[in-house]
Amino acid sequence: MLGYFICNGEMMSKRRLFGTFGVRRVANEILDPEFASLLAASYGSLVGGRIAVGGDTRTSTPMIKHAIVAGLLSSGCEVVDLGILPTPTVQYAVRKYYDGGIIITASHNPPKYNGIKFVDKLGIGIDRDMDLAVEELYFNKNPKRVSWDNIKSAYNEDKIVDEYINEVIKRVDADAIKEAKLKVVVDCGSGAGCFTAPYLFEKLGCELITLNAQPDGSFPGRNPEPIEPNLQDLIKMVKELGADVGIAHDGDADRTIFIDENGYFVPGDKTFALVEKQMLKDNNGGLIVTTVATSTAIYDIAEEHDGKVIATAVGDLLVARKLHQENGLFGGEENGGLIFPDFVYGRDAALSASKVLEIMAKEKKPLSELINELPNYFNEKMKIECPDDMKEEVLKRISDDVSTLGFKVDTTDGVKIFKEEGWVIIRPSGTEPIFRCFAESKSQDSAKEMAKWGISLIEKYK
Ligand code: MG
Repeated sequence: MLGYFICNGEMMSKRRLFGTFGVRRVANEILDPEFASLLAASYGSLVGGRIAVGGDTRTSTPMIKHAIVAGLLSSGCEVVDLGILPTPTVQYAVRKYYDGGIIITASHNPPKYNGIKFVDKLGIGIDRDMDLAVEELYFNKNPKRVSWDNIKSAYNEDKIVDEYINEVIKRVDADAIKEAKLKVVVDCGSGAGCFTAPYLFEKLGCELITLNAQPDGSFPGRNPEPIEPNLQDLIKMVKELGADVGIAHDGDADRTIFIDENGYFVPGDKTFALVEKQMLKDNNGGLIVTTVATSTAIYDIAEEHDGKVIATAVGDLLVARKLHQENGLFGGEENGGLIFPDFVYGRDAALSASKVLEIMAKEKKPLSELINELPNYFNEKMKIECPDDMKEEVLKRISDDVSTLGFKVDTTDGVKIFKEEGWVIIRPSGTEPIFRCFAESKSQDSAKEMAKWGISLIEKYK
């Protein structure tokens, strides 16, 4: 989960501006033009060169973007404005053409929010050291300000979306998809996907029906988070029109969620497993990177198809960075954010959607059948309150306690405890005084029991 920019006294004193990937806040409450400009100048001071800027459809995006452009120019950067487009499209462009990038988006959050994400020259979210260096300049109000005759220019680039769509098409068997003549309902959620998804699926020869395909920062059709309660219109349309599949993006079109031909919502980890299986088959094995919160199904599939799995702490940019470091084949998260490192070092909705269409076309099977063929696990999520200043101690005690009892423990992120029937992971929220407890097992009852056990461990020590 992405962190929020928190600016209460405690966090300010710790100089913590960034969450796990950028800053996020209600627009014009802290995240105002002055804030954005100073932060962008701080980033620009450290990076220099040509910086790409792009953002989602939110109403506050133009205001924040102009402040960011001003900040970058004042620090001596050249600025390329890519316009309104998905987050992965900016990441793609930066990796290919630019020295860095800034993305204005609050992803799946409600319309009043916006955020700023910084990426490095590979298009990967900047690392912790760079976060701290940018914060330092920001808090000291000391970014570089070049002399008037060293201020560079800013210009627009509007061809990148077409290039990005064509690059996605190159990475799938477009002929097979065209031949399958799939009937697709795509719900762009009025987000940045409006500029890519309909054009992409049309080029792939799908019989296309669009929903919420008008860009609108007030998100009139639905909440930008692609969870089941927000996708009822899409589910209804898939069923009523007899479509092969429904596809939904979040606000900045880095995540894709699928609805099968019967109108069932496909959980993100199922999509991850489905694409993993295909990637491993097509490449005769390879390295898969995911987070510690991901389903055992990912490991089962890897074992069956010559794959190896590495797990990082939760955060898409950590998965992306590990994929780069280890030259991995494919990565993803349990929420359905899939990463194809030979294309974009971040979650990519367009290629994820195209890959699933390719699998349906080549296997000549309905999506429900493809999903049913995957290993099946059940999960349960619970949460419990716990004061922030106690979290560290509670985690340590739980870890010590269960290790003594002989359970295998992984402390990559929070505490993950393995039992015979499954696992439970206990993680502190970075933004709220709570612990989240996430369990997976072979049956729903057992997953519930595991989650309850996790909660009982927290209660014992808080
Ligand atoms: Mg997103």
